[in-house]
Amino acid sequence: MSNKRILVTGGAGFIGSHLCETLLEQDNEVICLDNFFSGRKENINHLRSNLRFEIIRHDVTEPILLEVDQIYNFACPASPGFYQYNPVKTVKTSILGALNMLGLAKRVKARILQASTSEVYGDPKVHPQKEDYWGHVNCIGVRSCYDEGKRVAETLMYDYRKQNNVDTKIIRIFNTYGDRMLPNDGRVVSNFIVQALQGHDITVYGDGAQTRSFCFVDDLVAGIIKMMNKDDFTGPVNLGNPGEFTILELAEKVIKLTNSNSKIINKPLPQDDPMQRKPDISLAKEKLGWEPKIDLEEGLKRTIKYFKGVIN
Ligand code: NAD
Ligand code: UDP
Ligand code: UDP
Repeated sequence: MSNKRILVTGGAGFIGSHLCETLLEQDNEVICLDNFFSGRKENINHLRSNLRFEIIRHDVTEPILLEVDQIYNFACPASPGFYQYNPVKTVKTSILGALNMLGLAKRVKARILQASTSEVYGDPKVHPQKEDYWGHVNCIGVRSCYDEGKRVAETLMYDYRKQNNVDTKIIRIFNTYGDRMLPNDGRVVSNFIVQALQGHDITVYGDGAQTRSFCFVDDLVAGIIKMMNKDDFTGPVNLGNPGEFTILELAEKVIKLTNSNSKIINKPLPQDDPMQRKPDISLAKEKLGWEPKIDLEEGLKRTIKYFKGVIN
């Protein structure tokens, strides 16, 4: 498992930077490729002095020649605010990015792991979600650029494997949170924590009855690396924490853990906001021996500590 040359696209992002860090700790050479759209140099600054670490400013929608053993394809904005800013670009990033990385994997015979998402299940009518569920996705809505882009990326993984024998793997990541999320990221955990710490109103969209399942980033990274290094299992496999909470419950927990005086206010529910989401992780348990260890309360405490250090 050690001493590989590994490419992490989106390596300056929230999850990508944790992945780069852990792969370096495991004695690998790591190339972090990023266009810094929703990632930042601060996330990887502490890795720069390591001679096994390289950073390339590059956009995955353009071809690139590199020689690597493994590719983690994580380049893609993940927060609705970021991926809806330029939706056409989001589609290009998912599809052309996957295509270029698959072309690279084919040329150098690298193994490639695609960061897919629970969004491929859309607003799911099956609960909890298992990998064999095809999903309930709107192809012409505000979330479609992300959801459909990710679905086509999965299709490309499948077809490059079938047509070109590329060693592909797919993980479907459910809502993940933790340190290095941007304070203005827009996703619910960072929004609520920053609002609570700054004494601002906590913005619950809709009535807050919609549910999500939140996985702490350290747990996720362990699962991602296990999947990459597991032979004879291509996925897709769900990676997430099956603990399910309403958004209102999350808001109340954050207020309690931050000792905040913030009030909860309601804002309109965005279009196509999924009403429920919870991973069935029995496949990950069976094939990878993986399950999350950090519960929501513990993960929130760690994330709150991080945000206390970065916001005024
Ligand atoms: P993030 O926005 O912090 O990271 C994405 C990284 O990709 C950023 O550093 C960004 O600058 C980079 N990037 C974006 N477009 C690019 C392009 N065209 N070329 C090169 N780099 C580009 O988000 P994240 O939460 O770390 O998500 C990482 C991956 O995991 C994404 O592919 C996302 O879809 C997937 N994912 C994340 C979650 C989650 O809850 N965090 C859930 C499901 C899937
Ligand atoms: N590609 C790349 N790096 C490589 C090999 C390919 O970026 O090392 C790109 C290539 O430019 C193309 C894509 O990956 O846009 C798909 O490559 P493939 O060889 O599968 O298809 P083709 O080039 O034949 O269309
Ligand atoms: N949400 C919220 N307030 C916020 C940000 C998000 O109530 O300030 C809600 C959002 O409507 C959704 C849930 O929290 O129902 C998770 O949103 P996020 O953007 O984090 O992830 P996703 O919807 O992509 O799962």
